[in-house]
Amino acid sequence: MTNEYDVLVIGAGTGGYVAAIRAAQLGLTVAVVEKQKSLGGTCLIWGCIPTKALLEHAHALKVVQQAKEWGVTIGDGTAAVGIDMKQVHARKDKIVTGLTKGVEFLFKKNKIAWIKGTARLAGNGQVEVFEGETQTLRARKEIIIATGSAPRSVPGITIDHQRIITSDEAIHMKVVPKSIAIMGSGAVGVEFASIFRSFGSEVTIIELLPRLVPVEDDAVSAELAKSFRKKGITTYTGTKVTSAVVNGDGVDITAALADGSTKDIRAEYLLVATGRGPVTTGLDVEKLGIEMERGYIKVDTMYRTSVPGISAIGDVITLGTTPHPQLAHVSSAEGILLAERIAGLEVQPINYGHVPGCTYCDPEIGSVGLTERDAVAQGFDVRIGTFPFGVLGRAKMAGETEGFVKIVAEKKYDEILGVHMIGPRATELVAEATVALRLECTVEELIKTIHAHPTMAEAVGEAAHATHGAAIHV
Ligand code: FAD
Repeated sequence: MTNEYDVLVIGAGTGGYVAAIRAAQLGLTVAVVEKQKSLGGTCLIWGCIPTKALLEHAHALKVVQQAKEWGVTIGDGTAAVGIDMKQVHARKDKIVTGLTKGVEFLFKKNKIAWIKGTARLAGNGQVEVFEGETQTLRARKEIIIATGSAPRSVPGITIDHQRIITSDEAIHMKVVPKSIAIMGSGAVGVEFASIFRSFGSEVTIIELLPRLVPVEDDAVSAELAKSFRKKGITTYTGTKVTSAVVNGDGVDITAALADGSTKDIRAEYLLVATGRGPVTTGLDVEKLGIEMERGYIKVDTMYRTSVPGISAIGDVITLGTTPHPQLAHVSSAEGILLAERIAGLEVQPINYGHVPGCTYCDPEIGSVGLTERDAVAQGFDVRIGTFPFGVLGRAKMAGETEGFVKIVAEKKYDEILGVHMIGPRATELVAEATVALRLECTVEELIKTIHAHPTMAEAVGEAAHATHGAAIHV
Protein backbone atom coordinates (compact mmCIF):
# COMPACT_ATOMS: atom_id res chain seq x y z
CA MET A 1 0.00 0.00 0.00
CA THR A 2 1.31 3.50 -0.80
CA ASN A 3 0.45 6.39 1.48
CA GLU A 4 0.85 9.81 -0.07
CA TYR A 5 1.70 13.02 1.74
CA ASP A 6 2.84 16.43 0.50
CA VAL A 7 5.94 16.24 2.66
CA LEU A 8 7.78 13.25 4.11
CA VAL A 9 10.26 13.97 6.86
CA ILE A 10 12.88 11.41 7.92
CA GLY A 11 13.88 12.00 11.53
CA ALA A 12 11.94 13.68 14.33
CA GLY A 13 14.74 15.71 15.90
CA THR A 14 14.58 19.47 16.36
CA GLY A 15 15.11 19.86 12.61
CA GLY A 16 12.56 17.31 11.41
CA TYR A 17 9.75 17.80 13.90
CA VAL A 18 9.85 21.58 13.62
CA ALA A 19 9.85 21.40 9.79
CA ALA A 20 6.85 19.06 10.02
CA ILE A 21 4.88 21.38 12.29
CA ARG A 22 5.61 24.45 10.15
CA ALA A 23 4.65 22.58 6.96
CA ALA A 24 1.39 21.41 8.55
CA GLN A 25 0.65 24.95 9.76
CA LEU A 26 0.95 26.05 6.11
CA GLY A 27 -1.67 23.51 5.01
CA LEU A 28 0.57 20.70 3.75
CA THR A 29 -0.07 17.05 4.64
CA VAL A 30 2.95 15.67 6.49
CA ALA A 31 4.29 12.34 7.74
CA VAL A 32 7.42 11.95 9.86
CA VAL A 33 9.36 8.68 9.97
CA GLU A 34 11.19 8.16 13.27
CA LYS A 35 12.93 4.99 14.42
CA GLN A 36 13.22 5.87 18.11
CA LYS A 37 10.40 5.09 20.55
CA SER A 38 9.86 8.78 21.24
CA LEU A 39 9.96 12.03 19.29
CA GLY A 40 12.46 14.85 19.69
CA GLY A 41 15.75 13.32 18.54
CA THR A 42 19.15 14.00 20.07
CA CYS A 43 18.17 17.28 21.70
CA LEU A 44 15.30 15.91 23.74
CA ILE A 45 16.49 12.36 24.37
CA TRP A 46 20.29 12.52 24.83
CA GLY A 47 21.38 16.11 24.28
CA CYS A 48 20.30 19.62 25.18
CA ILE A 49 17.48 18.76 27.56
CA PRO A 50 18.96 15.98 29.73
CA THR A 51 22.38 17.67 29.97
CA LYS A 52 20.90 20.99 30.98
CA ALA A 53 18.65 19.20 33.49
CA LEU A 54 21.80 17.69 35.09
CA LEU A 55 23.44 21.13 35.09
CA GLU A 56 20.41 22.57 36.92
CA HIS A 57 20.89 19.80 39.49
CA ALA A 58 24.56 20.73 39.76
CA HIS A 59 23.53 24.35 40.32
CA ALA A 60 21.00 23.36 43.00
CA LEU A 61 23.70 21.33 44.75
CA LYS A 62 26.09 24.29 44.63
CA VAL A 63 23.54 26.57 46.29
CA VAL A 64 22.80 24.00 48.99
CA GLN A 65 26.53 23.48 49.60
CA GLN A 66 26.73 27.20 50.28
CA ALA A 67 23.64 27.08 52.52
CA LYS A 68 25.48 28.52 55.50
CA GLU A 69 26.56 31.59 53.57
CA TRP A 70 23.02 32.01 52.24
CA GLY A 71 21.54 31.64 55.72
CA VAL A 72 19.58 28.60 54.61
CA THR A 73 19.16 25.97 57.30
CA ILE A 74 18.57 22.37 56.30
CA GLY A 75 17.01 20.09 58.90
CA ASP A 76 19.30 19.84 61.88
CA GLY A 77 22.27 20.43 59.61
CA THR A 78 24.08 17.24 60.68
CA ALA A 79 23.73 15.24 57.46
CA ALA A 80 26.35 15.92 54.82
CA VAL A 81 25.08 17.65 51.72
CA GLY A 82 25.16 15.27 48.78
CA ILE A 83 23.48 14.23 45.59
CA ASP A 84 21.01 11.36 45.16
CA MET A 85 21.64 10.20 41.59
CA LYS A 86 18.53 8.02 41.52
CA GLN A 87 16.35 11.05 42.17
CA VAL A 88 18.43 13.20 39.80
CA HIS A 89 17.79 10.77 36.95
CA ALA A 90 14.13 10.32 37.89
CA ARG A 91 13.59 14.09 37.70
CA LYS A 92 15.60 14.42 34.49
CA ASP A 93 13.69 11.54 32.86
CA LYS A 94 10.38 13.09 33.86
CA ILE A 95 11.40 16.33 32.15
CA VAL A 96 12.49 14.46 29.00
CA THR A 97 9.28 12.39 28.88
CA GLY A 98 7.14 15.49 29.39
CA LEU A 99 8.82 17.18 26.44
CA THR A 100 8.80 14.18 24.07
CA LYS A 101 5.11 13.62 24.87
CA GLY A 102 4.63 17.33 24.17
CA VAL A 103 5.96 16.80 20.62
CA GLU A 104 3.55 13.86 20.21
CA PHE A 105 0.72 16.17 21.25
CA LEU A 106 1.85 18.79 18.72
CA PHE A 107 1.86 16.13 15.99
CA LYS A 108 -1.74 15.21 16.82
CA LYS A 109 -2.77 18.86 17.01
CA ASN A 110 -1.26 19.54 13.57
CA LYS A 111 -2.49 16.23 12.08
CA ILE A 112 1.04 15.02 11.38
CA ALA A 113 1.38 11.25 10.94
CA TRP A 114 4.18 9.62 12.94
CA ILE A 115 5.32 6.57 10.99
CA LYS A 116 7.36 4.40 13.34
CA GLY A 117 10.36 2.67 11.79
CA THR A 118 13.60 3.07 9.88
CA ALA A 119 13.44 4.90 6.57
CA ARG A 120 15.23 4.25 3.29
CA LEU A 121 15.08 6.41 0.19
CA ALA A 122 13.55 4.30 -2.59
CA GLY A 123 13.67 6.81 -5.47
CA ASN A 124 10.83 8.50 -7.40
CA GLY A 125 9.66 10.43 -4.32
CA GLN A 126 9.26 7.23 -2.33
CA VAL A 127 10.44 6.24 1.12
CA GLU A 128 10.39 2.69 2.43
CA VAL A 129 9.86 2.23 6.14
CA PHE A 130 10.88 -0.93 8.00
CA GLU A 131 9.29 -1.82 11.31
CA GLY A 132 8.52 -5.53 11.36
CA GLU A 133 7.15 -5.17 7.84
CA THR A 134 7.86 -2.75 5.02
CA GLN A 135 5.56 0.04 3.95
CA THR A 136 6.07 2.53 1.16
CA LEU A 137 5.29 6.22 1.44
CA ARG A 138 5.27 8.74 -1.40
CA ALA A 139 5.99 12.48 -1.20
CA ARG A 140 3.97 14.63 -3.58
CA LYS A 141 6.19 17.68 -3.04
CA GLU A 142 9.35 17.00 -1.03
CA ILE A 143 11.28 14.52 1.08
CA ILE A 144 13.20 16.12 3.96
CA ILE A 145 16.20 14.24 5.36
CA ALA A 146 16.71 15.25 9.00
CA THR A 147 18.55 12.21 10.31
CA GLY A 148 20.95 14.17 12.49
CA SER A 149 24.26 13.08 13.95
CA ALA A 150 25.83 10.58 16.33
CA PRO A 151 28.94 10.68 18.53
CA ARG A 152 32.18 9.76 16.82
CA SER A 153 35.66 8.99 18.01
CA VAL A 154 39.05 9.90 16.65
CA PRO A 155 41.44 7.47 14.97
CA GLY A 156 43.13 5.14 17.47
CA ILE A 157 40.57 5.56 20.27
CA THR A 158 37.98 2.78 20.42
CA ILE A 159 34.75 3.53 22.20
CA ASP A 160 33.60 0.45 24.12
CA HIS A 161 30.55 2.24 25.60
CA GLN A 162 31.48 0.83 29.06
CA ARG A 163 34.65 2.62 30.15
CA ILE A 164 35.46 4.63 27.05
CA ILE A 165 32.15 6.32 26.55
CA THR A 166 30.29 9.03 24.64
CA SER A 167 27.76 11.59 25.83
CA ASP A 168 25.02 9.01 25.14
CA GLU A 169 26.36 6.87 28.01
CA ALA A 170 27.49 9.77 30.23
CA ILE A 171 23.98 11.15 30.38
CA HIS A 172 22.68 7.88 31.87
CA MET A 173 25.45 7.31 34.45
CA LYS A 174 23.71 6.26 37.63
CA VAL A 175 26.74 6.70 39.86
CA VAL A 176 29.11 9.60 40.27
CA PRO A 177 32.47 8.34 38.98
CA LYS A 178 35.45 8.89 41.26
CA SER A 179 37.37 10.13 38.25
CA ILE A 180 36.64 10.91 34.65
CA ALA A 181 38.86 12.15 31.84
CA ILE A 182 37.21 14.07 29.04
CA MET A 183 38.67 14.26 25.54
CA GLY A 184 37.62 17.50 23.89
CA SER A 185 36.63 20.82 25.41
CA GLY A 186 33.83 21.88 23.11
CA ALA A 187 30.36 22.49 24.54
CA VAL A 188 29.67 18.83 25.32
CA GLY A 189 33.07 18.28 27.00
CA VAL A 190 33.01 21.32 29.27
CA GLU A 191 29.34 20.84 30.19
CA PHE A 192 30.00 17.29 31.40
CA ALA A 193 33.16 18.55 33.14
CA SER A 194 30.99 21.00 35.11
CA ILE A 195 28.36 18.36 35.87
CA PHE A 196 30.79 15.70 37.13
CA ARG A 197 33.00 18.13 39.04
CA SER A 198 29.96 19.58 40.82
CA PHE A 199 28.83 16.07 41.74
CA GLY A 200 32.28 15.34 43.21
CA SER A 201 34.32 13.57 40.49
CA GLU A 202 37.99 14.22 39.78
CA VAL A 203 37.80 15.68 36.28
CA THR A 204 40.61 15.96 33.73
CA ILE A 205 40.06 17.65 30.37
CA ILE A 206 42.39 16.88 27.47
CA GLU A 207 42.11 19.31 24.55
CA LEU A 208 44.09 19.03 21.34
CA LEU A 209 43.92 22.75 20.51
CA PRO A 210 45.82 25.36 22.52
CA ARG A 211 42.83 26.54 24.59
CA LEU A 212 39.53 25.40 26.11
CA VAL A 213 36.30 26.04 24.12
CA PRO A 214 38.41 26.76 21.03
CA VAL A 215 35.57 28.31 18.99
CA GLU A 216 35.02 31.05 21.58
CA ASP A 217 36.77 34.39 21.94
CA ASP A 218 40.28 34.01 23.43
CA ALA A 219 39.29 36.01 26.51
CA VAL A 220 36.37 33.67 27.20
CA SER A 221 38.64 30.62 26.93
CA ALA A 222 41.11 32.18 29.38
CA GLU A 223 38.34 33.02 31.87
CA LEU A 224 36.93 29.49 31.71
CA ALA A 225 40.41 28.01 32.22
CA LYS A 226 40.83 30.22 35.31
CA SER A 227 37.43 29.23 36.68
CA PHE A 228 37.94 25.51 36.04
CA ARG A 229 41.33 25.69 37.75
CA LYS A 230 39.67 27.22 40.83
CA LYS A 231 37.07 24.46 40.82
CA GLY A 232 39.78 21.80 40.76
CA ILE A 233 39.29 20.65 37.17
CA THR A 234 42.63 19.66 35.64
CA THR A 235 43.06 20.78 32.06
CA TYR A 236 45.68 19.87 29.47
CA THR A 237 45.49 21.98 26.32
CA GLY A 238 47.59 21.51 23.20
CA THR A 239 47.57 17.87 24.25
CA LYS A 240 46.88 14.77 22.19
CA VAL A 241 45.57 11.50 23.56
CA THR A 242 47.84 8.93 21.92
CA SER A 243 46.31 5.84 23.48
CA ALA A 244 43.46 4.82 25.75
CA VAL A 245 43.26 1.26 27.02
CA VAL A 246 40.59 -0.19 29.27
CA ASN A 247 42.33 -1.87 32.17
CA GLY A 248 40.22 -3.41 34.94
CA ASP A 249 37.92 -0.81 36.41
CA GLY A 250 39.45 2.13 34.61
CA VAL A 251 41.17 3.49 31.54
CA ASP A 252 44.91 4.02 31.10
CA ILE A 253 45.38 7.10 28.96
CA THR A 254 48.62 8.30 27.43
CA ALA A 255 48.81 11.86 26.22
CA ALA A 256 51.45 13.89 24.38
CA LEU A 257 51.63 17.25 26.14
CA ALA A 258 52.19 20.62 24.47
CA ASP A 259 55.84 20.69 25.63
CA GLY A 260 56.54 17.36 23.91
CA SER A 261 56.57 15.27 27.09
CA THR A 262 54.29 12.32 27.77
CA LYS A 263 51.66 12.16 30.49
CA ASP A 264 49.99 9.01 31.81
CA ILE A 265 46.50 9.55 33.19
CA ARG A 266 44.27 6.94 34.79
CA ALA A 267 40.57 7.54 35.22
CA GLU A 268 37.52 5.38 35.86
CA TYR A 269 36.03 6.58 32.59
CA LEU A 270 37.16 8.35 29.44
CA LEU A 271 34.43 10.45 27.87
CA VAL A 272 35.13 11.03 24.19
CA ALA A 273 33.63 14.41 23.33
CA THR A 274 35.48 15.12 20.12
CA GLY A 275 32.49 15.82 17.93
CA ARG A 276 29.62 14.18 16.11
CA GLY A 277 29.34 12.74 12.63
CA PRO A 278 26.37 12.63 10.21
CA VAL A 279 23.84 9.76 10.29
CA THR A 280 23.01 8.42 6.83
CA THR A 281 23.52 4.69 7.35
CA GLY A 282 20.93 2.61 5.51
CA LEU A 283 19.29 5.62 3.86
CA ASP A 284 20.78 4.78 0.45
CA VAL A 285 21.65 8.41 -0.23
CA GLU A 286 24.56 7.41 -2.48
CA LYS A 287 22.39 5.04 -4.53
CA LEU A 288 20.15 7.97 -5.45
CA GLY A 289 23.20 10.00 -6.44
CA ILE A 290 22.84 12.60 -3.67
CA GLU A 291 26.05 14.61 -3.54
CA MET A 292 27.94 14.11 -0.27
CA GLU A 293 30.95 15.75 1.34
CA ARG A 294 32.92 13.94 4.08
CA GLY A 295 29.78 11.91 4.84
CA TYR A 296 27.52 14.95 5.15
CA ILE A 297 24.69 15.66 2.70
CA LYS A 298 25.59 18.66 0.58
CA VAL A 299 22.83 21.28 0.29
CA ASP A 300 22.43 24.80 -1.08
CA THR A 301 21.22 27.75 0.99
CA MET A 302 17.60 26.62 0.44
CA TYR A 303 18.52 23.09 1.69
CA ARG A 304 18.10 21.45 -1.74
CA THR A 305 20.28 18.39 -2.25
CA SER A 306 21.64 17.58 -5.70
CA VAL A 307 18.52 15.42 -6.33
CA PRO A 308 15.32 17.36 -7.09
CA GLY A 309 12.52 16.79 -4.56
CA ILE A 310 14.91 15.83 -1.74
CA SER A 311 16.10 18.38 0.81
CA ALA A 312 18.09 18.02 4.01
CA ILE A 313 18.51 20.02 7.22
CA GLY A 314 20.16 19.88 10.62
CA ASP A 315 23.24 18.07 11.84
CA VAL A 316 23.41 15.82 8.76
CA ILE A 317 24.13 18.62 6.26
CA THR A 318 27.01 20.68 4.98
CA LEU A 319 26.64 23.87 3.01
CA GLY A 320 30.13 23.25 1.70
CA THR A 321 31.49 26.50 3.12
CA THR A 322 32.27 27.10 6.79
CA PRO A 323 31.53 24.22 9.20
CA HIS A 324 27.77 23.92 9.68
CA PRO A 325 26.83 24.51 13.34
CA GLN A 326 25.38 21.37 14.89
CA LEU A 327 22.87 23.10 17.14
CA ALA A 328 19.22 22.45 17.90
CA HIS A 329 18.10 26.02 17.18
CA VAL A 330 19.96 25.99 13.85
CA SER A 331 18.23 22.78 12.76
CA SER A 332 14.84 24.25 13.77
CA ALA A 333 15.47 27.52 11.91
CA GLU A 334 16.41 25.51 8.83
CA GLY A 335 13.29 23.36 9.22
CA ILE A 336 11.02 26.42 9.34
CA LEU A 337 12.71 28.05 6.36
CA LEU A 338 12.52 24.85 4.34
CA ALA A 339 8.83 24.22 5.15
CA GLU A 340 8.02 27.77 4.09
CA ARG A 341 9.98 27.36 0.85
CA ILE A 342 8.14 24.10 0.07
CA ALA A 343 4.81 25.83 0.78
CA GLY A 344 5.71 28.52 -1.74
CA LEU A 345 6.49 31.40 0.64
CA GLU A 346 9.30 33.79 -0.13
CA VAL A 347 12.27 33.01 2.10
CA GLN A 348 15.73 34.43 2.65
CA PRO A 349 18.82 32.33 3.41
CA ILE A 350 19.88 32.07 7.04
CA ASN A 351 22.77 34.30 8.11
CA TYR A 352 24.98 31.78 9.91
CA GLY A 353 27.13 34.63 11.18
CA HIS A 354 24.29 35.56 13.54
CA VAL A 355 23.75 32.17 15.16
CA PRO A 356 24.08 32.39 18.94
CA GLY A 357 26.16 29.74 20.65
CA CYS A 358 25.46 28.74 24.23
CA THR A 359 27.57 26.54 26.47
CA TYR A 360 25.97 25.70 29.80
CA CYS A 361 29.11 24.94 31.78
CA ASP A 362 29.72 26.77 35.05
CA PRO A 363 30.21 29.67 34.38
CA GLU A 364 27.95 29.77 31.33
CA ILE A 365 29.10 31.04 27.95
CA GLY A 366 27.00 32.89 25.38
CA SER A 367 28.36 34.31 22.17
CA VAL A 368 27.26 35.63 18.81
CA GLY A 369 29.12 37.11 15.87
CA LEU A 370 32.81 37.66 15.32
CA THR A 371 35.43 37.07 17.98
CA GLU A 372 38.05 39.77 18.39
CA ARG A 373 40.59 37.55 16.64
CA ASP A 374 38.25 36.95 13.65
CA ALA A 375 37.26 40.62 13.39
CA VAL A 376 40.92 41.67 13.27
CA ALA A 377 41.69 38.92 10.74
CA GLN A 378 38.86 40.21 8.55
CA GLY A 379 40.48 43.64 8.51
CA PHE A 380 38.08 45.55 10.77
CA ASP A 381 39.38 48.47 12.75
CA VAL A 382 38.20 46.99 16.02
CA ARG A 383 37.32 48.46 19.37
CA ILE A 384 36.51 46.42 22.44
CA GLY A 385 34.43 47.02 25.55
CA THR A 386 34.42 44.65 28.51
CA PHE A 387 32.40 44.76 31.71
CA PRO A 388 32.92 42.33 34.62
CA PHE A 389 29.99 40.67 36.39
CA GLY A 390 31.98 41.03 39.64
CA VAL A 391 30.83 44.61 40.23
CA LEU A 392 27.18 44.03 39.32
CA GLY A 393 24.62 44.10 42.13
CA ARG A 394 22.50 41.29 40.71
CA ALA A 395 25.55 39.06 40.23
CA LYS A 396 26.65 39.67 43.82
CA MET A 397 23.16 38.73 45.08
CA ALA A 398 23.29 35.51 43.11
CA GLY A 399 26.81 34.78 44.35
CA GLU A 400 27.85 34.42 40.71
CA THR A 401 30.54 37.04 40.17
CA GLU A 402 32.86 35.35 37.69
CA GLY A 403 33.15 36.47 34.09
CA PHE A 404 32.36 39.41 31.88
CA VAL A 405 30.55 40.68 28.79
CA LYS A 406 32.82 41.65 25.90
CA ILE A 407 31.67 43.61 22.86
CA VAL A 408 33.62 43.57 19.62
CA ALA A 409 32.71 46.57 17.45
CA GLU A 410 34.20 48.37 14.48
CA LYS A 411 35.19 52.02 14.68
CA LYS A 412 34.01 53.42 11.35
CA TYR A 413 30.24 52.86 11.67
CA ASP A 414 30.21 51.90 15.37
CA GLU A 415 28.58 48.57 14.35
CA ILE A 416 28.59 45.69 16.80
CA LEU A 417 30.36 42.72 15.22
CA GLY A 418 30.26 40.25 18.07
CA VAL A 419 29.30 39.84 21.71
CA HIS A 420 31.00 37.27 23.95
CA MET A 421 30.05 36.61 27.51
CA ILE A 422 31.00 34.23 30.25
CA GLY A 423 29.22 34.37 33.56
CA PRO A 424 25.79 34.14 35.18
CA ARG A 425 22.82 33.70 32.77
CA ALA A 426 25.13 34.28 29.77
CA THR A 427 23.04 31.78 27.81
CA GLU A 428 19.99 34.03 28.33
CA LEU A 429 21.75 37.38 27.92
CA VAL A 430 23.06 36.42 24.49
CA ALA A 431 19.50 36.82 23.12
CA GLU A 432 19.78 40.60 23.35
CA ALA A 433 23.12 40.51 21.57
CA THR A 434 21.63 38.32 18.83
CA VAL A 435 18.88 40.87 18.14
CA ALA A 436 21.50 43.61 18.15
CA LEU A 437 23.52 41.85 15.46
CA ARG A 438 20.43 40.99 13.42
CA LEU A 439 19.42 44.68 13.39
CA GLU A 440 22.99 45.76 12.60
CA CYS A 441 22.89 47.74 15.82
CA THR A 442 25.53 50.31 16.69
CA VAL A 443 27.21 50.46 20.08
CA GLU A 444 25.52 53.85 20.56
CA GLU A 445 22.06 52.24 20.16
CA LEU A 446 22.93 49.64 22.79
CA ILE A 447 24.13 52.40 25.12
CA LYS A 448 20.82 54.22 24.64
CA THR A 449 18.84 51.03 25.34
CA ILE A 450 17.79 51.25 28.97
CA HIS A 451 18.66 48.11 30.91
CA ALA A 452 16.53 47.44 33.99
CA HIS A 453 18.17 47.50 37.40
CA PRO A 454 19.16 45.28 39.10
CA THR A 455 19.61 42.71 36.33
CA MET A 456 22.43 40.67 34.83
CA ALA A 457 21.56 42.39 31.53
CA GLU A 458 23.05 45.59 32.88
CA ALA A 459 26.42 44.00 32.09
CA VAL A 460 25.51 44.13 28.39
CA GLY A 461 24.58 47.82 28.57
CA GLU A 462 27.71 48.60 30.58
CA ALA A 463 29.90 46.70 28.09
CA ALA A 464 28.45 48.98 25.40
CA HIS A 465 29.39 52.03 27.52
CA ALA A 466 32.85 50.49 28.00
CA THR A 467 33.23 50.15 24.23
CA HIS A 468 32.96 53.94 24.06
CA GLY A 469 35.39 54.19 26.96
CA ALA A 470 32.80 55.28 29.51
CA ALA A 471 31.49 52.39 31.63
CA ILE A 472 29.74 53.85 34.67
CA HIS A 473 30.42 51.24 37.34
CA VAL A 474 34.10 50.44 36.80
P1 FAD B 1 18.71 14.74 15.61
O1 FAD B 1 18.19 15.46 16.78
O2 FAD B 1 19.90 13.89 15.78
O3 FAD B 1 17.49 13.87 15.08
C1 FAD B 1 17.62 12.92 14.07
C2 FAD B 1 16.52 11.88 14.23
O4 FAD B 1 16.49 11.08 13.06
C3 FAD B 1 16.77 10.95 15.41
O5 FAD B 1 15.63 10.95 16.24
C4 FAD B 1 16.98 9.59 14.74
O6 FAD B 1 16.46 8.52 15.50
C5 FAD B 1 16.23 9.76 13.44
N1 FAD B 1 16.70 8.90 12.36
C6 FAD B 1 17.97 8.80 11.87
N2 FAD B 1 18.01 7.97 10.82
C7 FAD B 1 16.75 7.52 10.63
C8 FAD B 1 16.15 6.66 9.69
N3 FAD B 1 16.86 6.08 8.71
N4 FAD B 1 14.82 6.41 9.80
C9 FAD B 1 14.08 6.99 10.78
N5 FAD B 1 14.59 7.84 11.69
C10 FAD B 1 15.91 8.11 11.60
N6 FAD B 1 22.30 21.92 20.71
C11 FAD B 1 21.88 23.12 21.17
O7 FAD B 1 21.44 23.97 20.38
N7 FAD B 1 21.91 23.42 22.52
C12 FAD B 1 22.39 22.54 23.42
O8 FAD B 1 22.40 22.83 24.61
C13 FAD B 1 22.85 21.28 22.96
N8 FAD B 1 23.32 20.38 23.84
C14 FAD B 1 23.72 19.16 23.39
C15 FAD B 1 24.22 18.24 24.30
C16 FAD B 1 24.64 17.00 23.88
C17 FAD B 1 25.17 16.01 24.89
C18 FAD B 1 24.54 16.66 22.50
C19 FAD B 1 24.96 15.29 22.03
C20 FAD B 1 24.05 17.56 21.58
C21 FAD B 1 23.64 18.82 22.01
N9 FAD B 1 23.17 19.78 21.12
C22 FAD B 1 22.77 21.01 21.57
C23 FAD B 1 23.11 19.52 19.66
C24 FAD B 1 21.66 19.20 19.23
O9 FAD B 1 21.16 18.16 20.02
C25 FAD B 1 21.64 18.83 17.75
O10 FAD B 1 22.24 19.86 17.01
C26 FAD B 1 20.22 18.64 17.26
O11 FAD B 1 19.57 17.64 17.99
C27 FAD B 1 20.21 18.28 15.77
O12 FAD B 1 18.91 18.07 15.35
P2 FAD B 1 18.59 17.20 14.05
O13 FAD B 1 17.11 17.29 13.87
O14 FAD B 1 19.46 17.61 12.93
O15 FAD B 1 19.02 15.70 14.39
